[in-house]
Amino acid sequence: MTKPAATPHRCVVCGSGDAVTIWSVARTPMHAVRPTGMTDAASGFGQLDIVACSVCGHLSNRAFDTDAADELYGALVLTNEPVSPGMIAAVDETAALIMRHLKQDPAVLEVGGGGGALSLALARRSARVDLVEPSRALRPERFAGTGVTLHRAMFPVPALAGRRFDAVVCRQVIEHVPEPAPFLAALRVSLADDGIAYLELPSADDILRRHSIVDFHYPHVHYYRRAEMEWLLARAGFAVAEVFDIKQGHDVGFLLRAAEPQAREVPASSEMSSEGLLAALAERRARAARRLAAIDGPIALYGANAYAQALLGLYQESTPFAAVFDDTASYAGRCVYGPAGEIAIEPPRGERLAGMAAIVIAAYLHDAEIARKISAMGYRGPVYTLRAADPDSPGLIASLFDP
Ligand SMILES: [Zn+2]
Repeated sequence: MTKPAATPHRCVVCGSGDAVTIWSVARTPMHAVRPTGMTDAASGFGQLDIVACSVCGHLSNRAFDTDAADELYGALVLTNEPVSPGMIAAVDETAALIMRHLKQDPAVLEVGGGGGALSLALARRSARVDLVEPSRALRPERFAGTGVTLHRAMFPVPALAGRRFDAVVCRQVIEHVPEPAPFLAALRVSLADDGIAYLELPSADDILRRHSIVDFHYPHVHYYRRAEMEWLLARAGFAVAEVFDIKQGHDVGFLLRAAEPQAREVPASSEMSSEGLLAALAERRARAARRLAAIDGPIALYGANAYAQALLGLYQESTPFAAVFDDTASYAGRCVYGPAGEIAIEPPRGERLAGMAAIVIAAYLHDAEIARKISAMGYRGPVYTLRAADPDSPGLIASLFDP
């Protein structure tokens, strides 16, 4: 049963109420990771009804339950902790990029910092950091004596009202926020006139280019193309100083300065029609189903993340995934889950890998690094990635989705 939306759908970019479904999943996990053996195991599912606005093309999940947002983001398990050399280097690079634009001893606000890796990296470079993050899994002790002050709450927080910062940093958050305009306005009032803001988010241009169906997952309510985000930023009083392609275009970063709010023309819709997009995405879904069905024996996922979450929502009822490996030490006693139940997360070990008929790398942004690692652990079976290849640069690892 489809739960009726509490309020009529309205595009957060152009305001239109007209939209067309391009991707849907009736019952998908709300969380990527949760504690094993939850008493109410049947809960924790939501619906994806990804629609394209008929006027500007903006993609969003029309079925997102705004009332459940606090529960979703106060989540009991921290995700996206940097666990590999590549991930740690990326955090350091971002910290260096931000610090390059700041005066000595700056005051920094980070909104939605997850486990706090970036805040800690900024504080090591002698910034004073206020970190706002709602996750109840975050331990204040982690920040004792580090120069990071934790506010375990949703942004904006009353304790910081009236404070203005030399830098405002917000990474991988805006796509989770149902109403972006008031959120961006709150970031803007926190920014000093001569300060900088750094906003990072997944790129809908990239999803549209690669037709990456696992990039549609429950926690993301909005999928912004660059032109749409620039429109929202201009309205909120941010001037774009620099734009960065991150992770080969999967994400986009904006370096911003304070400006007067500006009304602009609504961005044009993307080139592909909604019908064309719907058909292309459906083809990918069917192709991966056939590929999984053709594997004779137990299949393991590598990476307990949002893409594994999306995959389980799509295929767990037809594919009994046998194991999930992840390098995050704090995932001991945690599981991923889908419509057919829980799968405990385990650290990768050679003898467990050896028993698998195929391994699907869910942490696809790090697939080359992971493929090398499992090869070094002696695994010789077929390896697939959830990366949908960029048409301009096909990947080296077989994709579950590509022809
Ligand atoms: Zn629109």
